[in-house]
Amino acid sequence: MTQTETTPAADRGAAVIDVQNLHKYFGDNEVLKGIDFHIARGEVVCVIGPSGSGKSTLLRCVNLLEEPTSGTILVDGDEITDPDADVDALRARIGMVFQQFNLFPHMTVLRNLTVAQEKVLKRGKAESLEIARTNLEKVGLSDKADAYPAHLSGGQQQRVAIARALSMNPDMMLFDEPTSALDPELVGDVLAVMKDLAAEGMTMMVVTHEMSFAREVADKVVFMDGGVIVEEGLPADVLGNPQHERTQEFLARVL
Ligand code: ADP
Ligand code: MG
Repeated sequence: MTQTETTPAADRGAAVIDVQNLHKYFGDNEVLKGIDFHIARGEVVCVIGPSGSGKSTLLRCVNLLEEPTSGTILVDGDEITDPDADVDALRARIGMVFQQFNLFPHMTVLRNLTVAQEKVLKRGKAESLEIARTNLEKVGLSDKADAYPAHLSGGQQQRVAIARALSMNPDMMLFDEPTSALDPELVGDVLAVMKDLAAEGMTMMVVTHEMSFAREVADKVVFMDGGVIVEEGLPADVLGNPQHERTQEFLARVL
């Protein structure tokens, strides 16, 4: 095969996250109804859609916080849906940031950033501290190293959560509505950090209602409704010229 030829198989080889025919049931409730989805290295994909459409479940299946009912998920070519997959090793490669920041409340900011480095990655204290400080600086919070989470604003806590995820040197980052719990004036700082990460080439899957972020930063926007991907493509196409009625209706409500 020449280099200019591309086949679906070749595309799949380049995908960092490759989801094939993913189904997820909670009891009788089919929440994901055959999702096909992939993200290439360095790509930023924003997932949008109404509440209850299955966005969080899709994200949570990608790092096995939820067990898929059927289908295949490959991460970096490794089939994580294989029963023999090393789930801990997989999770170490994927950083996850939630709507609720989930910091350890009884630990300082710095300790929040070092504890998993030491316990999971078996890094030494000095190295963990150095990496923690580098990542705190990256999110603009070097001066909060010794503070406890309760003394920070929501936006600062979320930036700490991002720095904590980055301290594990993940290959990719998953964000589930990272700014939805924040007061409007705190959203910008968090999005700015995410924008920097994207510019550095981090592979990112971001569930968000921030359409301006999606338009500006995403390589691809995926619109989900009722457990299926209704439409996906370039932000300018999906957000600016949606083809499906359901996408049009959703955007008319949120834009
Ligand atoms: P979204 O993130 O798009 O709002 P979710 O993935 O959270 O959607 O939810 C999709 C559907 O799955 C909803 O109907 C929700 O009630 C259901 N669901 C999500 N998590 C669970 C769970 N742990 N147990 C049972 N039902 C769930
Ligand atoms: Mg959700």
